[in-house]
Amino acid sequence: MLSIDGQAVTASATFDVLNPASNTVLAKAPAASPEQIEAAIQGARNAFPAWAALGWDERESYLNCYADALDANKDELITLLTLEQGKPRHTMATTEVEGAIYWIREVAKRRIPVEVLEDNEQQVVQVQHTPLGVVGAITPWNVPVLLGLWKVAFALVTGNTVVLKPSPYTPLTSLRFGEIALKVLPSGVLNVLSGGNELGQIMTEHPHIAKISFTGSTATGQRVMASSAGNLKRLTLELGGNDAAIVLPDADYKSIIPTLFWAAFDNSAQLCIAIKRLYVHTSIHAEFVSEFVAYAKTKSVGDGMDPATDLGPIQNRMQYEKLADLFEDVKNNDYRVALGGTIDRSLAGNFVPVTIIDNPPESSRVVQEEPFGPILPILAYDDVEDVIRRANNSPFGLGGSVWGKNRDAAIAVANRLETGTVWVNQIHVYGVDIPFGGHKQSGLGVENGHEGLCEFTNTRTLLIKK
Ligand code: NAD
Repeated sequence: MLSIDGQAVTASATFDVLNPASNTVLAKAPAASPEQIEAAIQGARNAFPAWAALGWDERESYLNCYADALDANKDELITLLTLEQGKPRHTMATTEVEGAIYWIREVAKRRIPVEVLEDNEQQVVQVQHTPLGVVGAITPWNVPVLLGLWKVAFALVTGNTVVLKPSPYTPLTSLRFGEIALKVLPSGVLNVLSGGNELGQIMTEHPHIAKISFTGSTATGQRVMASSAGNLKRLTLELGGNDAAIVLPDADYKSIIPTLFWAAFDNSAQLCIAIKRLYVHTSIHAEFVSEFVAYAKTKSVGDGMDPATDLGPIQNRMQYEKLADLFEDVKNNDYRVALGGTIDRSLAGNFVPVTIIDNPPESSRVVQEEPFGPILPILAYDDVEDVIRRANNSPFGLGGSVWGKNRDAAIAVANRLETGTVWVNQIHVYGVDIPFGGHKQSGLGVENGHEGLCEFTNTRTLLIKK
């Protein structure tokens, strides 16, 4: 059901949501009409003044009630997420739903205090942060719940109301998050609608939406930016990535292989921040590839509902076909395939094997593009200057990581990576208080952290003469 202005409502049209492990119809989701998106935006608009006036402490209480209500339905939400997204129930789906609930509780505690810049004989100067109004949250299909709640929690605690539109590939869990909110949040504060991409377009063009917080591809992000110009919407754009990991010659590489494997292949590599280019020094490259392949061979691809599955299917057929095309390119160019390389098209689900390409040319598609699936090039380099240049030679700038025993040397390399996040000897550590965002065409603005909180507000400067 759609959640519009405090009501759970159906739509006159529906669309099929498929289970990616079987490509059978899992459910028929409501396709919200333009009138329904209008009603949701109007509902959020009407709810805004009272929600903004509540103050931080009361909004914190509401958000805690919401987290409790979600917690009470956790098992159902985790199963639904696996069925529609494909990710293993016992690992990633559980982590995602629990992570979203944790995020709501933690974000609820955050505050933006009024800053007093001057208080002297002449004047008082204060900097305040006021909510924006209605926030439109638009999410992708790879991590629909957590990325959605990153937006919802920050928008609500700062006093905004929200219209959330999940991807048409994965609407179901987000719709349930909306239905559960109806029981605990005031009417109109959180509206959730499913439907086609055109709903996103309506939101980005709408004069009564003050901000769009968008996560998705760079190409769509560019369209969002263009169509948001009408009322100068505030924008946070979390977009694509082609993250490099650099393994320095002194790295204790055997001990980090499991971490690097999961950083590349978790969620079947459908992560914006996954390692997508793994650069290893020539002196250890051959041994590294063989150890990495040995570890990868112990991991299984299958239905996410099966507790034996390590990696689920690709979420949708469109992405599966894109990957099939990339696999073809690897074959046609005779790149060295260290593992995998062939997609078994006779399987009903969108299963793609873990595939490792041994040192393809830097100019190859598998290095230059964001595959968004389980195919990883492991590249050799001789010279640190050269690898830094190659890592930075990308229109993307989301994340990166550097691995080496000499911490200072690793930090020196990390400081030269042109990305929003750089990890040294660890990876994929996130936090409510840790800003996350992309440089270059990986995005605009940040989520999380104090900066992320402030992005859901306007700065208002108050100057009072004494
Ligand atoms: P997508 O851009 O196709 O879709 C994202 C969302 O935008 C969906 O809800 C879609 O319905 C909506 N949309 C489509 N056209 C629109 C339009 N014209 N106006 C407004 N909304 C529109 O992305 P996807 O395929 O769902 O997700 C994969 C991409 O997301 C990858 O490139 C990945 O790197 C990126 N991603 C980035 C982050 C990050 O935090 N940087 C996180 C996850 C995914």
